[in-house]
Amino acid sequence: MKITIIGGGLAGCSLAYIFRQLGLKSVLYEAGPTLAGGASGNFAGLYNPRLSVLRGPESHLYASAFVMALRLFPKFDDIDLSLTGILHLLDDERKDRRLRQTVPNWSWPSDHMRLVTKGEASDIAGIPLDHDALYLPTGGSIAPQKLCARYVDGTEYHLNTPIEDLDDIDADIKILACGPAVQKFAPELPIIPVRGQISQLEASTTSSNLQCSLCYHGYILPAVEGIHTLGATFLPNSDNAEIDEMDDLENTQRLGMAIPALKECTNVIGQRASVRATSRDRFPVIGKAPGKDNVYVSAAHGSYGILSTLAGAHLLASMILDRPRALPKQVIKTLDPARFEKRAKAKEG
Ligand SMILES: Cc1cc2nc3c(=O)[nH]c(=O)nc-3n(C[C@H](O)[C@H](O)[C@H](O)COP(=O)(O)OP(=O)(O)OC[C@H]3O[C@@H](n4cnc5c(N)ncnc54)[C@H](O)[C@@H]3O)c2cc1C
Repeated sequence: MKITIIGGGLAGCSLAYIFRQLGLKSVLYEAGPTLAGGASGNFAGLYNPRLSVLRGPESHLYASAFVMALRLFPKFDDIDLSLTGILHLLDDERKDRRLRQTVPNWSWPSDHMRLVTKGEASDIAGIPLDHDALYLPTGGSIAPQKLCARYVDGTEYHLNTPIEDLDDIDADIKILACGPAVQKFAPELPIIPVRGQISQLEASTTSSNLQCSLCYHGYILPAVEGIHTLGATFLPNSDNAEIDEMDDLENTQRLGMAIPALKECTNVIGQRASVRATSRDRFPVIGKAPGKDNVYVSAAHGSYGILSTLAGAHLLASMILDRPRALPKQVIKTLDPARFEKRAKAKEG
């Protein structure tokens, strides 16, 4: 079976990895001069399940991907795996209500998810915190670009090779894993570009003590060689990947507001801007492309792509090879690219 993957970010590279694990050859085409030159090229990113109140179809995707990541990531060398744990600060009323319900509804063992008081959170973090938190002791971070490189070890790939027309490709299976550019091939899919910038922040004496990652309306990772990664701005309907100092300001202001102990931490010494993709319902788009034979999609991974691309790759491979699906039917329906069309028809009817 000839399998072609279009796009060399996390979505495309994780697919190449899964096919190789299953003993299948795939060929990957990347438009840019490097792998992970788009949204997947950040210095560091959190692997962190998207936390919903209920354990419904959305959370199943992230929970199962988290379990896969815990097993898989430690097997890779040189992905900057950092197993520091993540504290989600309950820093507004809505989040406080929501995440307090998440813990019993997800029922994960407390070694993987629990609520902590602000005193406990401060002890875990190594810096004073003003809020109780949801703690994920086994969450952490990796370098997405390095993960892509590990995923494609042993796969044939071609850089500087933009695919212009699906008919130009001689393959039995074609997979669109090209981020916001999926729209070019499947304009009916409501894929929305979302600009984002991460900042590199010089560590202060206080922030150097930070022992785990913190999530608020942004995130900060513990310093590596005196530098924190600080994320991330989120501007929907923008495909502008230029650096903007105002985004650094937004990132540092959010940090100071959520964690007053780090208010003085404002010295940004680097940054990276790129464009992620989301969908109209803010959920990934993974499955068979509507109305196209043998064309599949893995896109709209939003702000949680490190995990969703991995579970997405497993799902697509099981669909293409007609193997048992690890995810429940309801989750697969929620991810299905045809869902938008079905909803529009249902509304009309
Ligand atoms: C600022 C920021 C911070 C983030 N932080 C996190 C985080 O902490 N944790 C997390 O899980 N996620 C995070 N994300 C989200 C995550 O990075 C994305 O969900 C993920 O990278 C999406 O991967 P992708 O492969 O779908 O897209 P991309 O990485 O954008 O890859 C698509 C690739 O397709 C290529 N391409 C496009 N058109 C063509 C064509 N015609 N032919 C061939 N190739 C083509 C592009 O050049 C690109 O390399 C963040 C995103 C941003 C922007």
